[in-house]
Amino acid sequence: MQRPRERTIDLTSDTVTRPSPGMYEAMVTAELGDEQKGTDPTVNALCDRVAELLGKEAAVFLPSGVMCNTIAILVQCRPGEEVLTSSCAHLLTMECAAPSAIAGVTVRGIEASGGIFSADDILRTIPWTRKRNVPNPTLISIENTCNRGGGSVWPMGHIWEIRQIAVDRGIAMHMDGARLLNASVASGVLPSEYSAPFDTVWIDLSKGLGCPVGAVLAGSSALIENAWVWKHRLGGAMRQAGVLAAAGLYALVHNIERLEEDHKNARKLAAGLGRLNGVRSKWGEPETNIVFLDVSGTAIPAAAIGERLLASGIHIGVESEFELRAITHLDVSEADIDTAVLGFEEVLKR
Ligand SMILES: *Cc1c(COP(=O)(O)O)cnc(C)c1O
Repeated sequence: MQRPRERTIDLTSDTVTRPSPGMYEAMVTAELGDEQKGTDPTVNALCDRVAELLGKEAAVFLPSGVMCNTIAILVQCRPGEEVLTSSCAHLLTMECAAPSAIAGVTVRGIEASGGIFSADDILRTIPWTRKRNVPNPTLISIENTCNRGGGSVWPMGHIWEIRQIAVDRGIAMHMDGARLLNASVASGVLPSEYSAPFDTVWIDLSKGLGCPVGAVLAGSSALIENAWVWKHRLGGAMRQAGVLAAAGLYALVHNIERLEEDHKNARKLAAGLGRLNGVRSKWGEPETNIVFLDVSGTAIPAAAIGERLLASGIHIGVESEFELRAITHLDVSEADIDTAVLGFEEVLKR
């Protein structure tokens, strides 16, 4: 009989991390105030730090990335207008249609490999001349890294080409930067360089950075002032939120450079699993911390593999009939990757 494992290796998401002792310490000792009155010094410090990191005038602390996306649309689009993004974008496929339900916009998805579309794709999507009967595109949203594109990293040249069209057509630019710092560490492009062509950009604290809660949206002072109105309306204005912001400040110091370890572990996982019969890394060698696995070659449904893996202490996300997703993060070690590969091999033998 198999001995039950002491702990599960959780590869379902980089949101599963728990605060480290150092992060807890920072939270417990944080100076606090009233966030919605603008008097929480720790929240203010976090917003200043993120604005500086992203090269923007101002930033606002929000409870989640979804709220960042929703508010960015609310402050840049009017009801009936159109947002352009990739067809696999989180804001189009995984946010309960918040852009239409709350902001009243339509979102048009552009098909593109790895979720990375080009300036030509935009030109093919929007009409050359304004037509009365066609929805007016007023925002282009780019997801960097692109989650469902396998953690793909946007090339800077692509972004500037798209920016040129946006400027010519009076379209605003938004970056869903849930994993912008992964993109930055992987590519060497500074977060501020990545953010320069965008009117609004946000980073998630609760993904690879390892915080329990929170995201920060940055932009011009005018846009962020308006974002505050929506933050209140949506119930996102908080009180002693410095306990959460302290985790963010800690993460910005300690958890950015180490993202490279997660990327290394993802490459190791993809390589190890790629050697197993019938298993293939969908996007080849991962650029960052996300690995999609095509297991159709094993003829075993992904759900069955997922169940068997879980029974042996390895938790991987089941995406579709023959697709699994694994995400590395700071609570997964290199040794855990070896264990996961061995466990996967065992499961396929059975
Ligand atoms: C997780 C995620 C979001 C949403 O962030 P939350 O903090 O979970 O609300 C948005 N976009 C992308 C690409 C994500 O991965």
